[in-house]
Amino acid sequence: MNESNRSWHERAAQLKIDGRALIGGKRVDAIDGAHFDCISPVDGRKLADVARCAEKDIDAAVASARGAFEDRRWAGTAPAARKRILIRFAELLLENRDELALTETLDMGKPIAASRATDVNAAANTLRWYGEAIDKVYDEIAPTAENSLALITREPVGVVGAIVPWNYPMLMAAWKIAPALATGNSVVLKPSEKSPLTALRLGELALAAGLPEGVLNVVPGYGHEAGQALALHNDVDCIAFTGSTRVGKQIMQYSGQTNLKRAWTELGGKSPLIVCADVAYLDRAVDAAIGSIFYNQGESCNAPSRLLIERPIKDMFLERALARVADYAPGDPLEARTTMGALVDDVQLQTVMRYIDAGVSEGARLLVGGDRARVDSGGFYVQPTIFDEVRNDMSIAREEIFGPVLSVLAFDDVAEAVRTANATPYGLQASIWTRDISKAHKVARALRAGTVHVNQYDEDDITVPFGGYKQSGNGRDKSLHALDKYTELKTTWIRLD
Ligand code: NAP
Ligand code: MG
Repeated sequence: MNESNRSWHERAAQLKIDGRALIGGKRVDAIDGAHFDCISPVDGRKLADVARCAEKDIDAAVASARGAFEDRRWAGTAPAARKRILIRFAELLLENRDELALTETLDMGKPIAASRATDVNAAANTLRWYGEAIDKVYDEIAPTAENSLALITREPVGVVGAIVPWNYPMLMAAWKIAPALATGNSVVLKPSEKSPLTALRLGELALAAGLPEGVLNVVPGYGHEAGQALALHNDVDCIAFTGSTRVGKQIMQYSGQTNLKRAWTELGGKSPLIVCADVAYLDRAVDAAIGSIFYNQGESCNAPSRLLIERPIKDMFLERALARVADYAPGDPLEARTTMGALVDDVQLQTVMRYIDAGVSEGARLLVGGDRARVDSGGFYVQPTIFDEVRNDMSIAREEIFGPVLSVLAFDDVAEAVRTANATPYGLQASIWTRDISKAHKVARALRAGTVHVNQYDEDDITVPFGGYKQSGNGRDKSLHALDKYTELKTTWIRLD
């Protein structure tokens, strides 16, 4: 064990975790006292008891958020005041970087280096960016006739329910709460039962930054209990959901069954990465294909899980790709050099292993991986896995696996590649690699996805919207466009003569 390894393990042993909910500015147990075990995928051990919130707790959290909204303690403040608090909130994330990163890694299994450098920074940057933006957004005056004035203004929708997944727990929470708070809403945040801990800390840090009590409430619990109660609640004005397409469809139904709350969904993907024979940056393409599917253990909504390669270069490309797979050998997530950690839990591990079995039995060729790893650790690790000779009708090409499994498909001409790329219910992200600029533009236009990359894959910035076409959802997180989700558009007519 080297020094940094020892120190993260030591810090982990000393970490104090409070699994209670945050409602009305107070840490509280679930009303009926229920809790669940929060298990670390790093070694399968219990980290903490976490409040198992359900309908009554959601009622309390929504009442707290509603009260805070109605008395205008936050909605009524000047954007410049909200800015100061959001920027302070962002600074507090950075000041607590090590603790947040360690908590995230222990709770969901991603490598500590990624949690420290990427997740904490990106979450803090999101809060800061919306804080900085919000006092620079102007309303409109319509070009009406001279005898009247029509103001077009944006107002907060009211109480926002945010339901987020476990793969980037802190960042997905920040993508929701930053624009929702910046625009003056009150929020009830429901993190995933699989990784609830950093969301609870975010709630505390928001209070420390000066956010008034009751404006941000955090209620951990199961999806079918706390999540469903929040999405069905008649006093919630907007539900902002990130998660699977299956649950996203339920969220839309809950809205229709109740008060027609706005329902924004950011859902799954089966993203294609297309490499043409005239690719200019071959090694970069190899890095992107391998790095983007194996980053975060393959648990990324936009991971390019289908690699489409033009047949003449396929073998050469795969040879280079295979040489890179060792860079993603599963390791101890608390070891600073580890690039691939543990899957979030045993359920996810079993799901991934079932897809690997399906790939083999459907006739794809297993090139590398295909097995569990680090079984003795007690945690949930899978080898980086690549299947060649995949057809687009196989389950490993059609369904989102959400693990480190890459499906390789050959194509003979680019029109066929586009048809295959689009032959999916999803439309989150896509990528085309070619040196031919006309081809790149034509393909980028033809790909039905919320984000298309040309000669790159994972460029990312808070300034651009992120979301999907088709069954990858209807909302856009990030950028100024996300403000639309959390604001009502009001027209005020004023008679002048
Ligand atoms: P999930 O099972 O759909 O869960 C997402 C959230 O919804 C969790 O907090 C979950 O709670 C909750 N939930 C489950 N059932 C519910 C119900 N009936 N009513 C209300 N809430 C319910 O998804 P996941 O497995 O956590 O996350 C992985 C998925 O998220 C993948 O499909 C991935 O592609 C997608 N994702 C999309 C984006 C994007 O921006 N498009 C980003 C990241 C992830 P519990 O976990 O506590 O049950
Ligand atoms: Mg966990």
